[in-house]
Amino acid sequence: MSYPDTRLFIAGQWQDAADGKTLAVFNPATGREIGRVAHAGIADLDRALAAAQQGFLAWRDIPAFERGKTLRRAAALLRERADAIAPLLTQEQGKPLAEARAETLFAADIIEWAADEGQRVYGRIVPSRNPAARQMVVKDPVGPVAAFTPWNFPINQVVRKMAAALAAGCSILVKAPEETPASPAELVRAFADAGVPAGTVGLVYGDPAQISSYLIPHPVIRKVTFTGSTPVGKQLAALAGQHMKRVTMELGGHAPVIVAEDADLELAIKVAGGAKFRNAGQVCISPTRFLVHESIRADFVAALARHAQGLKVGDGLAEGTQMGPLANPRRVTAITELLRDAVAQGATVAAGGERIAGEGNFFAPTVIDGVPLSARIFNDEPFGPVAAVRGFNTMEEAVAEANRLPFGLAGYAFTRSLQHAHLLSQRLEVGMLWINQPAAPMPELPFGGIKDSGYGSEGGPEALEACLNTRLVSILNV
Ligand code: NAD
Repeated sequence: MSYPDTRLFIAGQWQDAADGKTLAVFNPATGREIGRVAHAGIADLDRALAAAQQGFLAWRDIPAFERGKTLRRAAALLRERADAIAPLLTQEQGKPLAEARAETLFAADIIEWAADEGQRVYGRIVPSRNPAARQMVVKDPVGPVAAFTPWNFPINQVVRKMAAALAAGCSILVKAPEETPASPAELVRAFADAGVPAGTVGLVYGDPAQISSYLIPHPVIRKVTFTGSTPVGKQLAALAGQHMKRVTMELGGHAPVIVAEDADLELAIKVAGGAKFRNAGQVCISPTRFLVHESIRADFVAALARHAQGLKVGDGLAEGTQMGPLANPRRVTAITELLRDAVAQGATVAAGGERIAGEGNFFAPTVIDGVPLSARIFNDEPFGPVAAVRGFNTMEEAVAEANRLPFGLAGYAFTRSLQHAHLLSQRLEVGMLWINQPAAPMPELPFGGIKDSGYGSEGGPEALEACLNTRLVSILNV
């Protein structure tokens, strides 16, 4: 299976770094190097910034209607190329081929929705207190955007940022993940081939800290958008604050899953079990803290353990694989340590519990029960294939535990009671709550967190709003 080397995309040209530096890319299913990615230096960033400014000036003046046509062409190209892009994504990230293909196709949906929404960026006329005056509220693109994206959804994390920025009339310079570079490059290629003006989209890889500390303060950049961990997000938001840049932060979560005594247990296992092990649990909205009513906890744990044990783990390229490897060796170490800590504090392992021997970063789908609140796994975002379960007796207790952590990204609940659903919808401190259903983060819906999970939204009209300036223009007829 072939895998390309990935280059930088600057000023409409695919190119190597000025100093020729590259980094290795590894397949997490084998641990072997499969390609190289160009490593940008300051000279490359300077050219990319100048191009982003030029690209912005060209793109903002194209009518939204025409911009929408270009974006829709990019979506069509992605759909045509999905079968070729998916194997690249699987080889660099590990997820099953079907998930990689679905991620690529979903990117096309996101672009099309933004292409349409971009034509509905309306201002308004506000009646004046002076009849001779005309007061207009106008919306303009904020300017060149710097985007920083992680390796868990190499295409999805980028496309949410690109689609909103481009639909709003901004240019965008993306620092995509060095560990999974080829599939986001194909996304950028789709926009380039669809005909966005040179510089409107740019793509760099390199040292994340060096690139963010150079781009964020740079006067060309007017907005910063980041997806990744909360500690890094706080650093970048602080830097952006010093330079008064607009910010969207999509950070870590630790999603509670409340399973009430009146839940449809079969549905809860199917939905939460499916979501838990998708992308080997490396999902910011992955269900992580399973809070199960004591009366059904034993049945729930047994059924979830059976589900976990029945999953086919393997190379994402192999037929029938349901869960691939962890994306990098760091995650294997982190999950191993979290489990060791939980067990030392009294949790019991109901399924899995260890790394799968052999090559690659494979970890067994794991269920642990009786997890004390002091266990690290109930406090730090696990980002791996572990369902950690503990019991509760009253819904108030479950809500208090759900809200205990500083995170507030996603939440899930299973209940047939309208009273419970009502309470949860009012009290759970999360940016996205799904009751009796899997997460469905569609392009038309807001996507983002509250509290330490960040601010701003990467979906719905809010995603475009975050890329727009609101200005007042008042004209007096003299
Ligand atoms: P990390 O926290 O160092 O990196 C997370 C992401 O941030 C990576 O893409 C990295 O390239 C980027 N990054 C790191 N430092 C940066 C900087 N100074 N400037 C710009 N970008 C920077 O560690 P990691 O091992 O890659 O991931 C660990 C944790 O990150 C996970 O456990 C998870 O909590 C979180 N994470 C969250 C998401 C998400 O979707 N919200 C995605 C990936 C990782």
